Amino acid sequence: MSLLDVKNLKIYYFTLKGVVRAVDDVSFNVREGEVLGIAGESGSGKSTLGYGLMRLVPPPGRIVGGNIVVSGRDIVSMDEGTLRREIRWKVISMIFQGALNALNPVYTIGKQLVEPIIFHEDVSLKEAYERAAEMVKLVGLNEDVLRRYPHELSGGMKQRVMIAMALILRPKIVIADEPTTALDVVIQAQIMNLFKKIKKELNQSIIFITHDLSLIAEIADNVAVMYAGKIVEYGNSDNVFNTPKHPYTQGLLKSIPRLKSKEKLSWIPGTPPDLRNPPVGCRFHPRCPYVMDVCRREEPPIKDVGGNHLVACWLY
Ligand code: ATP
Ligand code: SF4
Repeated sequence: MSLLDVKNLKIYYFTLKGVVRAVDDVSFNVREGEVLGIAGESGSGKSTLGYGLMRLVPPPGRIVGGNIVVSGRDIVSMDEGTLRREIRWKVISMIFQGALNALNPVYTIGKQLVEPIIFHEDVSLKEAYERAAEMVKLVGLNEDVLRRYPHELSGGMKQRVMIAMALILRPKIVIADEPTTALDVVIQAQIMNLFKKIKKELNQSIIFITHDLSLIAEIADNVAVMYAGKIVEYGNSDNVFNTPKHPYTQGLLKSIPRLKSKEKLSWIPGTPPDLRNPPVGCRFHPRCPYVMDVCRREEPPIKDVGGNHLVACWLY
């Protein structure tokens, strides 16, 4: 069953220097229990998309078009009160990028975990604390963390608390935006294992946003590759990783170091475009080794190349 249907979503930032088309006509869906990885270089619009799905795009950004249907309800047109009471955190929640220091320093972890339960549900404080205790155990922490303050925790522990916060109301979908980027490699591996456990034990739907395709390969069922505000390739992980179709995805995969591979590492020349004035036609054309005339004139439509493997490229 589809839990999230995003259709033709557009999110623009209206800056003094022009309109930044950070998410430009993006469509995808997420099913129950599915992990969708969203990959792309810095600035491709991944975080903006995440904020959009929570309807928390910071000004001067705004959703300017499209639909976001969460559990059958379109949140783009929903009033803020209903969204806050019934959807945000309860049905869809988010672990924000670089949010390790977003915990309130003057409250214990327990108080911060219990507060949303009390706000949203008719339960006693005792019950709420029991739920919080269960949740911290699920994310691999000892129950006594509930009595501790944020400054008493390591980075890895804080990230586990942030994951517990995102899961505390048992939302159907969790968005994790670069959840391991600020952590060292050992802790990063532990947090990845925690996400795998959450996926398996809770059958949790997760939107996993990262610039690191190797993390997506570890956990995602499906992958959407973003370039300059657009999804350029989408498909199940096996298809995208084994037979990448879009020249951008091919370039990204060639830039991942592999232990046993004899293939030479390469990177994509050039830089992502300025989204106030993106290239006409295919937005990747100034960097593409296969560019043709049509690419400079017309935007490639997204096309199924077989098995729900979608690619936006004139080569297909
Ligand atoms: P990163 O991982 O570096 O955050 P990203 O892929 O998540 O990259 P976004 O942060 O969503 O990308 O940024 C997409 C585009 O929107 C970029 O061109 C960025 O400069 C622009 N942008 C993001 N936030 C704002 C803002 N508050 N005001 C204006 N432009 C913004
Ligand atoms: Fe390259 Fe053209 Fe395909 Fe764009 S549409 S990725 S420029 S071949």
